[in-house]
Amino acid sequence: MRALLLLAALGAVAAATTENFVGHQVLRIVPSSDAELQKVQELQELEHLQLDFWLSPRGLGDPVDIRVPFPSLQPLKAHLEASGVPYSIMIEDVQALVDLEQMQMLRRRRFVPFSTSTFDYTSYHTLNEIYAFMDLLVAENPNLVSKLEIGHTTENRPIYVLKFSKGGTNRPAIWIDTGIHSREWVTQASGVWFAKKIVQEKDEGLANILDQMDIFLEIVTNPDGFVFTHTSNRMWRKTRSRHSGSLCVGVDPNRNWDAGFGGSGASGNPCSETYRGPYANSEPEVQAIVDFVKNHGNIKAFISIHSYSQLLLYPYGYTTTAVPDKEELHQVAKEAVAALSSLYGTNYKYGSIITTIYQASGGTIDWTYNQGIKYSFTFELRDTGRYGFLLPASQIVPTAEETWKALEVIMAHTRGHLY
Ligand SMILES: [Zn+2]
Repeated sequence: MRALLLLAALGAVAAATTENFVGHQVLRIVPSSDAELQKVQELQELEHLQLDFWLSPRGLGDPVDIRVPFPSLQPLKAHLEASGVPYSIMIEDVQALVDLEQMQMLRRRRFVPFSTSTFDYTSYHTLNEIYAFMDLLVAENPNLVSKLEIGHTTENRPIYVLKFSKGGTNRPAIWIDTGIHSREWVTQASGVWFAKKIVQEKDEGLANILDQMDIFLEIVTNPDGFVFTHTSNRMWRKTRSRHSGSLCVGVDPNRNWDAGFGGSGASGNPCSETYRGPYANSEPEVQAIVDFVKNHGNIKAFISIHSYSQLLLYPYGYTTTAVPDKEELHQVAKEAVAALSSLYGTNYKYGSIITTIYQASGGTIDWTYNQGIKYSFTFELRDTGRYGFLLPASQIVPTAEETWKALEVIMAHTRGHLY
């Protein structure tokens, strides 16, 4: 009986501290006219409804996915019906998917801190588990892998990057980051899988790359946000900083870079999911990468990985001016997407950010491209909205595998065009 009471009390504590999504739905609107697009854009101004845009409005025919809190459902549906905007329900009950994900995590192979071969790559993991995985990988592969601390987060967590190197000083390098938006869980999970893949080094292509280049991999690029998705709010996207006395927390770390900073396609409102921050590089998580890239000075490819939508994008996002290397980047993207699709038939679109999705200012790869890193790409991994950010863990390994095919193409192309 006492045990039961204790359990009930623990349950109450968990419920009190964790945001729940009971009765929340994800609605999809596919605007088919300028008037509909306009109406969907206006929804973003309705702050009192607390809508969470999983996919923001892009253009005609492109889906807009919105998580709608339970109390806002009827008002929003009534509003859409009155304005003649059709919608469909993508996710009936967001909490049901969160619960499934939690159950899957509880069932994951108990983490045995002995070896990366006992690590469960088919499950989602906490920050501590991923950091422990990184230490094991380094210990098992001391001649190939090292762990660099490149900075500290707002909440003073260390920011780690794995370095894969066969030696030499300041070799040309490839950068890959996952999880800059914390709720995009399939990306950090894929980052873990990539790390293991690199040390296995079984295929010739990878061996060739490591003979000439180093690879840097930042698996948890927004550690504070990632911890928050586990402890408090699964749908957290931003960092956890506080600025200018606002009650709202966090900056969108993919709008905080010094490339078109403050322009269209980012918000100056601290409560917005796309808040750019008070100034460029205000976020220590962004500043750490900026410092690293500048100090290194020899990074040739920079790949920043997000989810979801199944897209492979290159600069620019902040301007319609095409990058000088557009033809080459477009061709590389085409080949990378073909390789990705060859594995499981997953369909990707590709192109520049502004022509493929929408204007976005202060984005990561616009800054890296302007620093002279020609092969700057961003991915949006699975899926196209059936599960969105709540992609079942059973899809982690297939997602990582197919993405790796695309990464191989980009890395091989980079290696072939070093000088
Ligand atoms: Zn993202």
